[in-house]
Amino acid sequence: MSLSPLAGAPDPEGADCVACGRCCHHGPSTVQLLEDDELRLGEERVRRLTVVMDRPPYFRFVKNDGARCGALDVSVPERYPCAIYDARPEGCRLVEPGSPCCLEARALGHLGTSVEFKRTA
Ligand code: SF4
Ligand code: SF4
Repeated sequence: MSLSPLAGAPDPEGADCVACGRCCHHGPSTVQLLEDDELRLGEERVRRLTVVMDRPPYFRFVKNDGARCGALDVSVPERYPCAIYDARPEGCRLVEPGSPCCLEARALGHLGTSVEFKRTA
């Protein structure tokens, strides 16, 4: 499920992100965790919110909830805060408000292909 597109550029400091949430709508196996991401998240949240591929190379990803990230807090209608914001994986930090992949996500209603998640460790 993607959301409706949003017009225009958001606040560069992220003031519009909780009301937007478009970049946190994407397919499964999108947000990969590196070692530092796992440490920052801690064992309990790693167990609850992530999943490992069932075949090599056994990368770990944040679980999906349908067509959106499973770490998205959808308890309040039309609000999309990240439930693990302070400990969110490095990959999520690449999508800065107003960046090309942010603008693409807002135009599509979900994360597009312009964001590149690169494994660095
Ligand atoms: S698409 Fe842009 S404005 Fe929307 S939540 Fe992501 S970074 Fe924030
Ligand atoms: S971990 Fe947080 S910031 Fe990253 S995609 Fe999921 S909800 Fe969005």
